[in-house]
Amino acid sequence: MIHAVPSADEQLAFLRQLQRLLDEGSFVASYKYALLHAIADLCVLRGDDSGAPLTVATNELADQFVRLYWRQVAPFPGAEATEPLKQNTGRQAAVLRMVREARARYDTRLARVEGSPEWPRLLRDVEDVVRKMPLWRLQTMGDERVEFLYEHREEENPREITLKPGVAYCFRQFYSMIIEMVQGAWTNYIRRANVHLLGPDAELRYFLFGSDRQDLPACRDLLDDVQRGRCFYCERRMAAGSVAVDHFVPWRRYPFDLGHNFVLAHDGCNGRKSDRLAAVAHLRRWDERNRSELYELPRRFAEAGVAHDWRASLRITRWAYDQVARSGGQVWVRGKELEPLTPGWEDVLSS
Ligand SMILES: [Zn+2]
Repeated sequence: MIHAVPSADEQLAFLRQLQRLLDEGSFVASYKYALLHAIADLCVLRGDDSGAPLTVATNELADQFVRLYWRQVAPFPGAEATEPLKQNTGRQAAVLRMVREARARYDTRLARVEGSPEWPRLLRDVEDVVRKMPLWRLQTMGDERVEFLYEHREEENPREITLKPGVAYCFRQFYSMIIEMVQGAWTNYIRRANVHLLGPDAELRYFLFGSDRQDLPACRDLLDDVQRGRCFYCERRMAAGSVAVDHFVPWRRYPFDLGHNFVLAHDGCNGRKSDRLAAVAHLRRWDERNRSELYELPRRFAEAGVAHDWRASLRITRWAYDQVARSGGQVWVRGKELEPLTPGWEDVLSS
């Protein structure tokens, strides 16, 4: 069956419904925010831009839940309590307890629990909660159920949802905007639930959604070797102390800490690139590095306990460049120099 890309009106209707859901949906726990976030992430990771429906298994959602909550179950810095911030109007949300226990047992390193025999069980437990709690309640606004994302087919298919035609397309096209909305609403929810604990100015957003920088020191030595002590972008030598591990696809565009997305750069080059994508010449170098070190890099990532997934990194990178191409955006060359994204960038990543 051939699907069409949704029309401008349909895209607008989708955004309105999403806004309505965040405004009117009742949120007894933060699960619904996590669910929306997880669906958006999976649309980038697994969907395409054809307008086709996308089937998502509940264990894939559980996997994203663990990643989202992993960082958030740490005690909030400066707060007296050692308990995680409350994310429920009643007792603490069950998923937080599960993730917190795993985090404590695996020395706070996500990459470690992922490779452990405990991982499938953790996913199963979280999946049960996802199926019982937010999955079939997400689209309820007031006393009305508006099935604009997926149909309720709990009886027929309790372990998957199928996003309607056009939904994955919209999540991919408006990803940054949607994530901004969801994280903003989620942060406010946590602020309200922990009002006694947090002052009005607590730096909550970064704590909840920033990069999990634990893997960065481990990456630094490894990348220094691979890049032979030279900055990934300007290729000049780097002096110790002024070196930054850079997210090649910036965290702000898609929050993921996977090994292949890291490069080592001067503090200055890293700072000036900021939240931009790098020019095609850099993209080509990034792709070449990952291909020429096809076996060596994953081996070293594993050795250093850094999570990695070359295919996923490639898919996210392709999507991020496509976003810039569609909006006629610019990419970063060096210093303050930007340039339009030249046609032909697709060929760099196509093989
Ligand atoms: Zn540099």
